[in-house]
Amino acid sequence: MLVYNSQVHRKQELEPIEPGKIRMYVCGPTVYDQIHIGNGRTFLSFDVIRRYLMYKGYEVTFAQNLTDVDDKIINRANEQGRTAAEVAEEFSEKFIEQMHRFGILDPDIRPRATREIEAMQEMIQLLIEQGNAYPVPSGDVYFSVRSDKAYGILSGRDLDQLRAGERVEVNDEKRDPFDFALWKAAKPGEPSWPSPWGDGRPGWHTECCAMIHRYLGTPIDIHGGGADLVFPHHENETAQAMCAWHAPLANVWMHTGMLQINEEKMSKSLGNFYTLKEVLDRYPANAVRILMLQTHYRAPLDFSFDRLDGAVSSLERLVGCVKNLRWAAEAAPQDGHLTEGDRVLGAAIDAAEREFVAAMDDDFNTAGGIAAIFGLVTTANKYLAEAAGSIETSVTLRAASTLVELCSVLGIDLSKDTAQSELPAELVQLAAERAGYAGTSPEEAAQALIDARQEARAARDWGTADAIRDGITALGLVLEDTAAGARLRRK
Ligand code: AMP
Ligand code: ZN
Repeated sequence: MLVYNSQVHRKQELEPIEPGKIRMYVCGPTVYDQIHIGNGRTFLSFDVIRRYLMYKGYEVTFAQNLTDVDDKIINRANEQGRTAAEVAEEFSEKFIEQMHRFGILDPDIRPRATREIEAMQEMIQLLIEQGNAYPVPSGDVYFSVRSDKAYGILSGRDLDQLRAGERVEVNDEKRDPFDFALWKAAKPGEPSWPSPWGDGRPGWHTECCAMIHRYLGTPIDIHGGGADLVFPHHENETAQAMCAWHAPLANVWMHTGMLQINEEKMSKSLGNFYTLKEVLDRYPANAVRILMLQTHYRAPLDFSFDRLDGAVSSLERLVGCVKNLRWAAEAAPQDGHLTEGDRVLGAAIDAAEREFVAAMDDDFNTAGGIAAIFGLVTTANKYLAEAAGSIETSVTLRAASTLVELCSVLGIDLSKDTAQSELPAELVQLAAERAGYAGTSPEEAAQALIDARQEARAARDWGTADAIRDGITALGLVLEDTAAGARLRRK
């Protein structure tokens, strides 16, 4: 299978370091607030990448950190008169809660930066000893970018260009303006830990690197994050790893495109964001997934509520199709006789599976995967409409289970949405037949009965209206007139 490696700007055959196994790491959130749907898109993309690798039979070990000490957390704590640890704890929990609602699998390992200080200090010490880092009188420790001949290897930037083109903070203690802090000396009132260089806390780039080395060992197979992390975060991560342990941090670097709103990156600082929580409060996670996965993970994704409404309709179509297939299979006589329609549906199932895998093998083309799923929905709906009376149970059930399985690889969980309706299928079907209608689902059949009675009443044909009602009652169902219209229920 082909995977785009952003370090070399092209797709490469995926070659695990250990056959059959993938070790992957995705930078986690800084826990100072609810995450927005842009962050959600990145975490969703890697959830699907992980699920697909598992579907392909790889044993995947997935680690994701929580950055629970950072300026943003400290500022938030100061604003609210709380400790940084309290703020970090609250938003770690809230992050995990939203990940669960979004159907994102828990990582196998979820290290928290504040509990990994020792590993970070060991790495910093090693970098100092090897001449790649230096402590300064204020108590900070900096990584020396000049000491790393390969600096810029990931982002393709060269230090001279960087110096000419970008403004960086002036700091007399740094030997080069692009040197970055591995350890930050404690300021009054900030969380800090003792160290050989004085009390302080780790820098952000240091955290991920040390945790990856400790929990997964370097190099790992896949390192992921949003495209905005390539420089400086990932560049600095890989520089530290190369200098500390003389091996790359990761074989493959994967970066997701930004979620945008009105063609602008969604971000906290621009204020143009929706939190994942507020969107999941209003929309099913499955619909949000469909919307996001319709765009390839590396491309920018334009978010709008109109598009999300469209995804809700797509989800309903999918759910309706699976329900109708199951209902039709249940109601069908089992004669084992294959018609041309059955064969067409069987071939469509095989094609959908093939197309799904071909798309996903090509750098996780989820848009192609979703197209394959909806291709099968179209054929299955046509089959149900045309094959009424000659439904073949096994092929019909296989179509339903294929849809459910392919969706589950994308984390679209149809198990709840497609639970069977309350009404016993045989009764509804009989009722529908008596009303002269062979519907394809309990809902449709029930609606047909209700409509038939309504029409009769509108035409003041009370005899027919009553006959329909009596027929329904004789079948053990009750037709109720409610404020919201008529509905059927069990007696
Ligand atoms: P942060 O907490 O800011 O480090 O972000 C967590 C993850 O979300 C990182 O992998 C970011 O690259 C990613 N991210 C931030 N903004 C967006 C966005 N608008 N679209 C997609 N991913 C994003
Ligand atoms: Zn990171």
